[in-house]
Amino acid sequence: MATPISFASTRENDSNRHNLCESSLVQKLIRYQSEQGGHVSDEKLQEFSQREKVPLYRLQELVSFFNTFRKKPLPKVLVQICRDFSCHLAGSQELLKIKNEFADEIENGLVEIEGKSCIGHCDGPCAVIINHHIYRNLNHRSLSGQIRNFIADKPRHIDSISTSIPDDWNINPYGKTTNYDMFREFVTAADTEEFGSSIIRKLKDATLVGKGGPGQTTYKKWETVRKYSAGRDQRFVVCNADESEPGTFKDRELLLHLPYLVVEGMLIAALTIGAQRAVIYIRHEFEDQIEQLHRCIDHAYDLKICGSNILGTQFSCDVEVFVSPGNYICGEQTALIEAMEDKRGQPRQRPPDLEIQGFRNYPTLVNNVETFAWVPSILKNGPEWYAGLGKNGCKGCRFISISGDVNNPGVFEVPLGATVGDLLELAGGMKDGQQLLAFAPSGPSGGFIPAKVPKDFFPPEFIEQQQLTDSHFDLLKLPLDNNYFRYSLKSKLNLGAAHLFVGDQSDLQSLVRSCTEFYRNESCGKCVPCRLGSEKLVQISNMTNQDGSFQFPDYFQELAELMKQASICGLGQVAMAPLASYKQFFQKKI
Ligand code: SF4
Repeated sequence: MATPISFASTRENDSNRHNLCESSLVQKLIRYQSEQGGHVSDEKLQEFSQREKVPLYRLQELVSFFNTFRKKPLPKVLVQICRDFSCHLAGSQELLKIKNEFADEIENGLVEIEGKSCIGHCDGPCAVIINHHIYRNLNHRSLSGQIRNFIADKPRHIDSISTSIPDDWNINPYGKTTNYDMFREFVTAADTEEFGSSIIRKLKDATLVGKGGPGQTTYKKWETVRKYSAGRDQRFVVCNADESEPGTFKDRELLLHLPYLVVEGMLIAALTIGAQRAVIYIRHEFEDQIEQLHRCIDHAYDLKICGSNILGTQFSCDVEVFVSPGNYICGEQTALIEAMEDKRGQPRQRPPDLEIQGFRNYPTLVNNVETFAWVPSILKNGPEWYAGLGKNGCKGCRFISISGDVNNPGVFEVPLGATVGDLLELAGGMKDGQQLLAFAPSGPSGGFIPAKVPKDFFPPEFIEQQQLTDSHFDLLKLPLDNNYFRYSLKSKLNLGAAHLFVGDQSDLQSLVRSCTEFYRNESCGKCVPCRLGSEKLVQISNMTNQDGSFQFPDYFQELAELMKQASICGLGQVAMAPLASYKQFFQKKI
């Protein structure tokens, strides 16, 4: 039978640790499911309800929402094929037809094969999870072999770690070892209040912006939490490690190779805002990363870098891991907080923002993995150093994940202001001699931009600055920086961490349809415009003309506008982006 996962640290019961997550119903339920062999039937839920003295409806609410919970027993072999983005480009739709080959085994309950939303291995498509082990670069033949190995109880486990860390990543100020130098300096400072203010000033001077999505200015978040913490007895630091956007896998590598930078960045944040609890919220498929984090946190406790009276000072802060019960939407920071509060992971209406009223209604600082990881090197080398890492007039640096029809997909540390052409070069150019057809600058949420962008897509200032005389602009020359990107593309798009290159031999229309289905599948259903609108978009993506091209109905624009205006969170606001960008740039060619 497929082995259930266990996420617990072996040291979680240490008496010197105050474990916030220990009392979490969601975490208890995940462990209970694991103890029960990987599923929680109605009977088992009843037992749990009595044991924990929690009403059954509260448990059903969670189990029916989060995708980590199963009501039926695990089969001997559970196969989950990633169906998104680069896996789609690499043929995951075809791979799913492997169900036909195992029809008998599926029929008798031995094997279960299903599609799954992006599992964060876009640099190794097609990626598949078999009984919780991740396999990369699979085709029909190799997947068939693996399934047969599992059926015969001879599974071949392959190391899922994809890349080794380059020595020259700027983000790492310590080389091969770390002693939490910057945090030590801070926590033992004579005046931590003044030190905290100086840290916020440094983040401001460095122009550090959040690396997880909306690109909020980091220092402002820290400052706001600090401001609204006055008179409150608690506040929290939360690291969003629920990396689930199709095409994004940079945090996967940072957590694996440099977890101590994330922990140190969180501790510095905790001391700056006066928090005594720091929680890393991580997606459950990141099993290697969860283990790595537990090791790193245990070591930090051994060094007395976290826990009570850190290094003999008055400051105490516990650091712990909260394993996400699943669902893409929990990467949205308010949904993540809801899940931590043992509710369905559905985004909150804002305001109030989390910085004012977050976890358990206390001021809460939520930053992305990479954002925290940059803090030690910025403090060690100075804000000017970080700002100076940019190029083409842009400031700073970031990690990006490149995938799709390129020779060398992977995670790269890239100066802001690098051009799309620079990225393509890093990724070894287009594979199989293909020409660039389209580029997705922010996972599916940013839509697709053509290799030659029509001049009228740019604002007059950009046309003047670039001295554009041709009717089209070469996308490869476009510098990537959040502000610049928004300005140059006249759009409200964020520059994300997921960059996908699509070659001219790929079926962009099919990819657009798959992205649209992704949003429908992952809509949490809380608000009507997104719940119904995302389904309507899928219907539209299946409406075709005789030549097979999309048949956009008259109401498409109106629907798209309505979803943008009336959806509660980013998912509903961007769900139309793949179709809308296709309509804008690619439709006429068909
Ligand atoms: Fe949920 Fe979609 Fe509404 Fe976001 S926009 S809250 S995902 S239904």
